[in-house]
Amino acid sequence: MNIKELSSLKVLENNFGTSTGLTWFASGPKIDSFSPTNGEYIGSVFSTTKEEYEEVIAKAKETQLFWRDIPAPKRGEIIRLLGERLRKEKESLGKLVSYEMGKSYQEGLGEVQEMIDICDFAVGLSRQLYGNTIHSERPGHRMYDQYHPLGVVGIITAFNFPVAVWAWNAALALVCGDVIIWKPSEKTPLCAIACQNIISEILKENNLPEGISSVVTGDAEVGKWIAEDERISLVSATGSTRMGKQVAETVARRLGKSLLELGGNNAIVVTPSADLKMTIIGAVFGAVGTAGQRCTSTRRLIVHENVYDKVKESLVEAYKQIKIGDPLDSNNHMGPLIDRVAVSMYLDALEKVKQQGGNILVEGKVLEGKGYESGCYVTPVIAEVENHYEIVQHETFAPILYLIKYTGEVQNAIDLQNSVKQGLSSAIMTTNLREAELFLSQNGSDCGIANVNIGTSGAEIGGAFGGEKETGGGRESGSDAWKAYMRRQTNTINYTANLPLAQGIKFDL
Ligand code: NAD
Repeated sequence: MNIKELSSLKVLENNFGTSTGLTWFASGPKIDSFSPTNGEYIGSVFSTTKEEYEEVIAKAKETQLFWRDIPAPKRGEIIRLLGERLRKEKESLGKLVSYEMGKSYQEGLGEVQEMIDICDFAVGLSRQLYGNTIHSERPGHRMYDQYHPLGVVGIITAFNFPVAVWAWNAALALVCGDVIIWKPSEKTPLCAIACQNIISEILKENNLPEGISSVVTGDAEVGKWIAEDERISLVSATGSTRMGKQVAETVARRLGKSLLELGGNNAIVVTPSADLKMTIIGAVFGAVGTAGQRCTSTRRLIVHENVYDKVKESLVEAYKQIKIGDPLDSNNHMGPLIDRVAVSMYLDALEKVKQQGGNILVEGKVLEGKGYESGCYVTPVIAEVENHYEIVQHETFAPILYLIKYTGEVQNAIDLQNSVKQGLSSAIMTTNLREAELFLSQNGSDCGIANVNIGTSGAEIGGAFGGEKETGGGRESGSDAWKAYMRRQTNTINYTANLPLAQGIKFDL
């Protein structure tokens, strides 16, 4: 892929490298985007200045008054059109994701498929924003609860899912009657412009105002404006725990709402009865897929001593088969890390593993030579460690898999799996019903996602996605995650000529 090929992608037609556009405009410092696949310059976008941000937010506020009056199923129709357009653009957008972020083309396509899936989900949801009806304790009274649009939703996203996370938020927020302002990662700005172009076209074709969906570009500073802004009712922030803590504090100070999707430290527990073939495939995909740069990537494998040596041998053997290279070439399993900063963090982590007593089973290194000119390609690592090592307690966003042995009952493995600060995704490989049920019980995994006989990595949009503890506690995507994007109201209606008080309180005049 070269720049010529990429700029001919339809998704980038409007705003590519310019500061003009329908709903995205900016004139601040330029952000250059380089592909981690080959180090080549792809294009630039301009950062949003504070004055431009003010314009965007003012327009969003005004537009929300209009959008909230559009019936929800009609808002759903716009999301249906978005899903249709994404179906048409799947290949070009998938390619851009792969080229700008560095994940495999298959995973790039998968990301766009997730966008399509959440649009489909949101279309149905637009007719199902249900509240409850409640029996009143007072005669001649009716009670119910209902959900109203919240207002403006700010969406801050990470580089590793440069389009899907926006869609998870955008599709739900828009059918819920909110308008959205997106601050994408400064590492993948072109993916954001492409998405914005797609939705802008749909809004324009349907004579809808542009403030329904906006993008503001820039680094953490622009994210901070969103967190501080009282006009933003909900800040949905995806990224590192470090970022999440700052956003949470800032939003809490103004008693705003935040939805946080932060780092994970995901483990698979492998019990003596596990199907080892499935275990190895699940673990290897979980650890090396997206070069270990998924929030749900498998970081720890907690293996029973009876099967430990077998699992270790099979893993080392499997790692010899991993092909590393251009993610747009479907023969490769693993592409590059996002940039050289990520490569330094990977090297630092390997140093720490050794210093803290880890035994490296599969060595890591930075690849050089033909095809690896970007300097972002590394080899995946397996290290035998103990769960309490400081480095194991942290999320390193790279393909490093920690192998940890457990003895005795499965509860010991569950305790190890829970003994980290993060709580996103977890899995158990077992054919023993008792172990599986224990893992899913209140005494089991403390994560937001707990799987049986599938790995930790990836999720379907139908379920609520998110995690506990330092993962932030937010839920996005399916199930009833939509409730975060609406405000709840309880209504009591009295259709009698009397005014009885609740709890039987007497008040006569
Ligand atoms: P990051 O925290 O460096 O940046 C994420 C976004 O936050 C960017 O847009 C950045 O500009 C912005 N930002 C940074 N500091 C900010 C601040 N103080 N205030 C407001 N905005 C700020 O994360 P990253 O390196 O892009 O992404 C990797 C991290 O994201 C990993 O920890 C990964 O686990 C996490 N992640 C979590 C999920 C999830 O759903 N739980 C999904 C994807 C990624």
